Amino acid sequence: MNFPTTQDGLYINGEWLAGDQPLRVINPATEALLTTVYGGDEHAVDQALDAATQAFGPWSNTSGSERGALLRRIAAGVREARERLMHLQSSNNGKPLFEAAIDVDDVVATFEYYAELAEGLDARQDSPLALPSADFSARLRREPCGVVGLIVPWNFPMVTTAWKLAPALAAGCCVVLKPSEVTPLPELELASIIAGCGLPDGVFNLVCGTGLAVGAPLAADPRVAKISFTGSNAVGVQVMQRAAETVKGVSLELGGKSSLLVLADADLDLAVELACGGGFFNAGQMCSATSRVLVADELADEFLQRLKTRAEAIRVADPFDPDVEMGALVNQAQYQRVLGHIDRGLSVGATLVCGGQRPAHLSRGFFLQPTIFTDVPLDSALWCEEIFGPVLCVRRFSTQAQAIALANDSRFGLVASVVSRDTTTAEQVANALQAGLVWINAPQVIFPQAAWGGYKQSSLGRELGPWGLAAFQEIKHVVRAV
Ligand code: NAD
Repeated sequence: MNFPTTQDGLYINGEWLAGDQPLRVINPATEALLTTVYGGDEHAVDQALDAATQAFGPWSNTSGSERGALLRRIAAGVREARERLMHLQSSNNGKPLFEAAIDVDDVVATFEYYAELAEGLDARQDSPLALPSADFSARLRREPCGVVGLIVPWNFPMVTTAWKLAPALAAGCCVVLKPSEVTPLPELELASIIAGCGLPDGVFNLVCGTGLAVGAPLAADPRVAKISFTGSNAVGVQVMQRAAETVKGVSLELGGKSSLLVLADADLDLAVELACGGGFFNAGQMCSATSRVLVADELADEFLQRLKTRAEAIRVADPFDPDVEMGALVNQAQYQRVLGHIDRGLSVGATLVCGGQRPAHLSRGFFLQPTIFTDVPLDSALWCEEIFGPVLCVRRFSTQAQAIALANDSRFGLVASVVSRDTTTAEQVANALQAGLVWINAPQVIFPQAAWGGYKQSSLGRELGPWGLAAFQEIKHVVRAV
């Protein structure tokens, strides 16, 4: 795929503009420069917010079915551009093409789902509220909360965006989107698709740029009614602090340190497959990575042997290699960060079962072998912190209560997985886990109908499902004396 040498990084009030902040965008598999995107700073944020504020009145008065029709057009545009979007995801993020296909399909499903919810809004608007008095009547309105700022990371470009953008538009909000400066290309293409769908100018605006130049002023601006942020906990806290000044709504999707529990009666082949998926999909750069693998004593030796064999056989390769199973990490900084975690793990006495290095056959690109540790101290960063790379920590347990306690002993609580042949037991374990989403004997399938988000420091609020739409709505009751 050929890229233009430079790309405009601002889409404001229906116009493409070049900002004055160059962002070098690289291909993590080759380390080559893909293009330079000209993003903006607080002036571009100001312009975008002016446009969004102007557009809000008329847009907020459109019917749900009008907005639903536009969302369906966006879904169709994304479907039509599937191949190109997949290539952009893989080129910019380093993920295998088959993973990029899952991302693009998820984006389509999300826009279609929220189109349906938008269409359903009209019939629910002004619904009567039963009151315990015949002297009054009341009706309920769901109104868009205003102009919203959407800030997203680099690990699932377009997907994290769609999870915010589709419900925000469905609700009737106007949007300023800030993609990650590391992976702006998929969002730029998505913006081109949206630009061709007939949204009124100013309803959707995109400002590429760094966190400090664009994200920080967006989070602080009084014209923004709500910030929806996905990213690291450290930045999430800063966003919340800035938003506090003007008491704006905040939704946060942050980090995780999730567990996969392999119970004593588990199907071992399935457990190995799910452990690899939970640890090595997207090169482990998932907030939902099940990077703690807890395995029953009875199975532990056999499981670890099979997991090691499978992990060593995983084909780490260029994202466009037809046999690739795991691609590259996103950039040099992330690569060094993960290697640093591996070094620190070794220095605190964890046992390296396999991996930990660049694969011998790949001399450039940010590639890392699938890595497995055991004997990881419970107070170490390797056990407690989000690594965001292809690194699993395997630990034995002797009772289910112990496994649940180990899984719940975290400041995070995003997801969990349980592997067991006994569905009753698995369901009970799922009920005891402090996580927003638990999979039983299943890979990490995500449906737009089910909520995304977690307990404790993983999230504030929920995305997807009707909860994702409610996050962009205000509730109004009108009470009248009859
Ligand atoms: P990050 O926090 O560094 O950046 C996320 C976004 O925030 C980027 O667009 C960045 O430019 C912007 N940003 C940076 N500083 C900012 C500031 N001061 N004010 C406003 N915006 C700012 O995260 P990342 O490295 O891009 O992504 C990895 C992190 O995202 C991981 O911690 C991961 O767990 C998390 N994540 C969470 C979910 C979830 O659903 N819970 C999903 C994907 C990623």
